[in-house]
Amino acid sequence: MSREPHGIPAAVARPEPIRVLYFAGSGRSGSTVINNILGQVGGAFAAGELRYLWQRGVVENRLCGCGVPFAECEVWQGVMSDAFAGGTPPDAGALAARLLSRLRIARVPGILLRRLAGRLPVPRHTDDQAIQALYAALAARTGAHVIVDSSKLPPYALLLSGLPGIELYVLQVVRDSRATAFSWRRRKQLLDFGDEQLMPRQPLWKSSLLWLCWNSLTALLWRRTPERYLRLRYEDFVHAPRESMERVVRLVGLDPATLPFETATSVRLEPTHSVAGNPTRHRVGTVELRPDSEWLQTMPRRQRALVTALTAPALLGFRYPLHPEGR
Ligand SMILES: [Zn+2]
Repeated sequence: MSREPHGIPAAVARPEPIRVLYFAGSGRSGSTVINNILGQVGGAFAAGELRYLWQRGVVENRLCGCGVPFAECEVWQGVMSDAFAGGTPPDAGALAARLLSRLRIARVPGILLRRLAGRLPVPRHTDDQAIQALYAALAARTGAHVIVDSSKLPPYALLLSGLPGIELYVLQVVRDSRATAFSWRRRKQLLDFGDEQLMPRQPLWKSSLLWLCWNSLTALLWRRTPERYLRLRYEDFVHAPRESMERVVRLVGLDPATLPFETATSVRLEPTHSVAGNPTRHRVGTVELRPDSEWLQTMPRRQRALVTALTAPALLGFRYPLHPEGR
């Protein structure tokens, strides 16, 4: 990180809105590398999946993207002490549990009805003060013009956009549902604890339905506001990474010239301070961006058919073929 914290109290330093670039959609879509690339751009701070900060950062003290435990990371220490008396919010574990409950998939119908009625989609809660304090301190401490939050869950984006002072931009990274379902079945080592824990795996039906629900909801909520929303297919991103990233950076008013491309398809990554998320957020050095199409060769035909059947309407909506080549 080249940006030094300047230590100005949040309330004094940020009269202007806090611009948040929020990754909305579903997991295993390839958004981690996009988060890491954005973390290299001048004026951006790649914060990772901030909705998990309370549990995985504050309570469990997992590794920050910079490689040290959350509580030992200087950037996060500064942010937390600016945001909260004593450096920690009151009972972060309980806040994390309440947040999970407020954003559950079962709440989506109520969220949509309230939005249709012109009310706040996610009702206010006293926890929102702590959430808002976190983003304000993050913006002030890092000096970033854009905070990149890869939390993905659409209801959390609605909660954030209802907080005073937050200016939300949405990036939907969508990837072929068969590729994401295949990825959810793969064993992947979790580096957050520095040991051999594995990332959770999901059955095909579950990852398919979550993909369908969260991606359809994201498109429904933001497609009519193109000045604040961009949809990027992972497959288009790996086909033309530089052009894709330039579009993302321009959406939030940052300078595409500061993107870390070494060649048209490779980037130079320095560590970020991303909390929570895919273990690949720890990747540094030169990273070659290439398509990962292993599923086309190795995903069993019946598994492919199940995922295709469950996600077909949205697959077509996002311009994916129901019967891709490869087998
Ligand atoms: Zn860090």
